[in-house]
Amino acid sequence: MADLTKKSLTEIVSLIKKKEIKSEEVTNLFIKNIENDKKLNSLITNCNEHAAKKAKNFDKNPKFDTLLPGIPIAVKDLFCTKGVKTTAGSKMLDNFIPNYESTITKNLWNEGAFLLGKLNCDEYAMGSSNETSFFGNVMNPVAENTVPGGSSGGSASALAADLTPTTIGTDTGGSIRQPASFTGTVGLKPTYGLCSRWGIVAFASSLDQAGPMTKTVEDCALMLEAMAGFDEKDSTSINKKKENYSKNLTSNIKGLKIGIPKEYRVDGMPKEIDKLWENGKKILKESGAEIIDISLPNTKYALPTYYIVAPAEASSNLARYDGVKYGFRSNKGTNLIEMYENTRSEGFGDEVKRRILIGTYVLSSGYYDAYYIKAQKVRQLIKDDFDDSFKKVDAILTPSTPSAAFKIGEKKNDPISMYLNDIFTVPVNLAGIPAISIPAGTDNNNYPLGLQLIGKTLDEQKLLNIAFAAEKKINFKQNLNRWWEK
Ligand code: GLN
Repeated sequence: MADLTKKSLTEIVSLIKKKEIKSEEVTNLFIKNIENDKKLNSLITNCNEHAAKKAKNFDKNPKFDTLLPGIPIAVKDLFCTKGVKTTAGSKMLDNFIPNYESTITKNLWNEGAFLLGKLNCDEYAMGSSNETSFFGNVMNPVAENTVPGGSSGGSASALAADLTPTTIGTDTGGSIRQPASFTGTVGLKPTYGLCSRWGIVAFASSLDQAGPMTKTVEDCALMLEAMAGFDEKDSTSINKKKENYSKNLTSNIKGLKIGIPKEYRVDGMPKEIDKLWENGKKILKESGAEIIDISLPNTKYALPTYYIVAPAEASSNLARYDGVKYGFRSNKGTNLIEMYENTRSEGFGDEVKRRILIGTYVLSSGYYDAYYIKAQKVRQLIKDDFDDSFKKVDAILTPSTPSAAFKIGEKKNDPISMYLNDIFTVPVNLAGIPAISIPAGTDNNNYPLGLQLIGKTLDEQKLLNIAFAAEKKINFKQNLNRWWEK
């Protein structure tokens, strides 16, 4: 059979269900591909032995009435996995072995999947290029010498390089959609509260959301179905009935209204991205949708608002890493205060420290009203803009990122230019609404570019349907020269 690891998750599931292939056969092929990860550096922890054992057990006693029967899955190293090291890409957690399983990974295992490995990411998911990880940067398999995006860079890289049939990431300001866009893959950030945050290392709790990263839209629907669901352990989890996203997937989008926000046309945006966007509009029109110009006037405030709210929450969330209960502890210092100080200065990397400093500043007395409270008010205005637009349209179409993948090191020492890469993704997190990035074309260098579809709260099905229709017409072909295997 042609290389199974290149097939979509849906195809692999169907072959397993039809008993045409065994889980062990599939799992061994992915394990073999993982041997070539050295140059990509997409894995932090390899769980090959565990996966091989699980696959064998599955084949001995197969159950086919689940969504992911016998499927090996490598996951972002931000999801706590019982008995398996969970680092969040940080030295601080290099020795952390959770004694519990995150709800999302547990949901996947309950559907028949098992753990294949833990994937590299920016430290505490702070970054847009996977260059802030304590475990080294990740390379983009699709475009040599470029970054895979971040913070779910290891997830995107492993998926695009066929090291895992599907994966999961987290998205606080774009960390699923931006790496998906950079690697020619599909990434969905669900509605805030649709996927449980329990057992995920926290970055900014009012923005963090887990979601699927896949090769196709159909796979994305299947994964979301497996992941989503009410969880009483997460107080922000939405209590609603589970949906059959994959069964209800249709490319019939006749009559749907798609909004084009004029504020997403930013200065200096490469021509190819404008062209990509125009093509997206054309394709949706051909599929029977109506294109409508809209305005989201407060978009320009989204980035500064995000870079107040996210660091503020991060500074609070990361206060727990003090070297006492778990994680790294410095052995320098002669008293408790010095131990705290040394632990935090040795355990955290520069980007994390930068966020903690900004966060502590904007929350400090005297500045709280001027920054944090103001940002919360602007956040509401951004949400109101979306609510107003969704009275007129079913979904919104934008580019996913203002550029294609950039070179390793290009933005590393310029945080502002790095933050600017999130310009099209952060408004969605501030509003708590869902958005999906699908591969839609390439730039002059042949690097992938993504289009983003934004939907209203809990309208994931419609978003997936529109993405499904667009995907069919775009017919994007991944072009890998597999440089990392040489
Ligand atoms: N790049 C953004 C940041 O560094 C988003 C990160 C994320 O979504 N986790 O904050």
